Amino acid sequence: MHLENENKFIEINNEIVKPGEAKQLRIPISRLPTGTLIDIPVHVFNSSKPGPTILLQAGLHGDEINGVETLRRMLEAEEFNIKRGAVIVVPVLNIFGFIHFSRDVPDGKDVNRSFSGSKNGSLASRIAYHYTQEILPQVDFGIDLHTGGGQRSNYPQVRYTKDDAFSKELAMIFNAPFSFASKLISGSFRKVSFSKGKSMIVYEAGESMRFDENSIMLGCIGIRNVLTHFNMIELSSTKKIYTKQLSSTRWLRAPRAGMFIPKIENGSAIKKGTLLGVVADTVAKKSKEIKSPINGYIFCINNQAVVNQGDALFHVGT
Ligand SMILES: [Zn+2]
Repeated sequence: MHLENENKFIEINNEIVKPGEAKQLRIPISRLPTGTLIDIPVHVFNSSKPGPTILLQAGLHGDEINGVETLRRMLEAEEFNIKRGAVIVVPVLNIFGFIHFSRDVPDGKDVNRSFSGSKNGSLASRIAYHYTQEILPQVDFGIDLHTGGGQRSNYPQVRYTKDDAFSKELAMIFNAPFSFASKLISGSFRKVSFSKGKSMIVYEAGESMRFDENSIMLGCIGIRNVLTHFNMIELSSTKKIYTKQLSSTRWLRAPRAGMFIPKIENGSAIKKGTLLGVVADTVAKKSKEIKSPINGYIFCINNQAVVNQGDALFHVGT
């Protein structure tokens, strides 16, 4: 029987996690050609006292491993012995991409463009379907951990949804170096969550397939800030909001093809006219400078060495 002053029962894939229990469950998705079952590991920490249920997930893009490592470290350090509510931790959502060192699933589809998915669709669509069915109904809000795609390195930042005031509040509580509103992309997890009234913020930090200690550390701190705010864990110090809110953002692109040499550190404050980088041809005849068109900050640098004209190189904002 469920008591009034107890937290709710959490049910995932027909398994129940009672108040006061912690369990590792699995959501079965599909089999590899060899017959090996691929399932998504889900850690559920259900406290005995009522409170919010928070989703912490990573690896929706299989090669974005900073988030995977962030959650792994927090699990290892047993940071989810919470006082109230529940935490659902999914360290690797896109298992197929993760084992192939790929953003996508083997047929090239992006799971984060396939929500809310379909039961009988292709792999990305099935992952999205089962995940939406099993996880979303259980949670109140959550944090989705990503990195820049390809070699684009994001300075730790949180993206929230413009028309969702609570997601903005979560971004302030998380307190990453930068935060800004970003559009809801069709088929994304954040969009389907928004349509079901569940606020999600996206923590973007570092680049694909490369650990970045600063990104991992600030990810752990941000998650702790959120858990502390909702009185789920105890932390002695409360920090002031220091996140820099960006109201407009834009990409600066390669003015020509060539070798791209950045001249500035990610996360830096920039002024109109600041030299950000150079693109030079391989025969040492011609080069073009990229100068900042604004006063603001640089929050993503593309670490691609050889670029084509028009490639996105710096993400800047004011
Ligand atoms: Zn991503």
